[in-house]
Amino acid sequence: MVTIEKLYQQAGELHGSTCPGVILGVRMSLLGCRLIGIDEPKNSENRKKLLILVETDRCATDGIQSVTGCSIGRRTLKVVDYGILAATFYNFETKRAVRISVRTDARAKAKDQHPHEVDKNLAYITAYKTLPTEEIFIAEEVTVDLSSFELPGPPPPRSQCNVCGEEILSGREIHRGQTIVCRRCARLPLYYKPTKSIPVSGSGNQAEFDR
Ligand SMILES: [Zn+2]
Ligand SMILES: [Zn+2]
Repeated sequence: MVTIEKLYQQAGELHGSTCPGVILGVRMSLLGCRLIGIDEPKNSENRKKLLILVETDRCATDGIQSVTGCSIGRRTLKVVDYGILAATFYNFETKRAVRISVRTDARAKAKDQHPHEVDKNLAYITAYKTLPTEEIFIAEEVTVDLSSFELPGPPPPRSQCNVCGEEILSGREIHRGQTIVCRRCARLPLYYKPTKSIPVSGSGNQAEFDR
């Protein structure tokens, strides 16, 4: 049995430092998992049952990842960036989903806990570690619409962009009449703007790092 302090420490290591958000992420995970009937999220059976949708890409998300072992690469952790410190915990087996958010008065309450602590960060960390769960979080049962291509499991089939040839995971391709294209070739908005190609030969291989 891992102690909660150990969980905080591990989350801090993953995040780079222990901050109030990480603490909230850890506690939020323990609550969310418990409410959907998963006690040890990292054991091999439970790993297959759990999906988490987080509504922020900030500190708490690292806390959640650390405690639960859910990850973006395994498609068990999704960032739906609403800019809100909240997350929905979904149990594939029971289909039960519970959204945990932070009470609007939690910050003020935490601030009042240790008024004489000069290190404000530490004051929040200590408060969030010790305040009762019901004074920090709100839980609600929700339903989640998960389209099949969002789910974990074996890699989905791919299709190929008919213009540039890039492979696209099924469900993300764009249909233009009879042809299949990627976002870029469909001229849809992208998060980047290409400026120029650069050579990659002779860089980035292991030998380069070993030197
Ligand atoms: Zn942080
Ligand atoms: Zn393309």
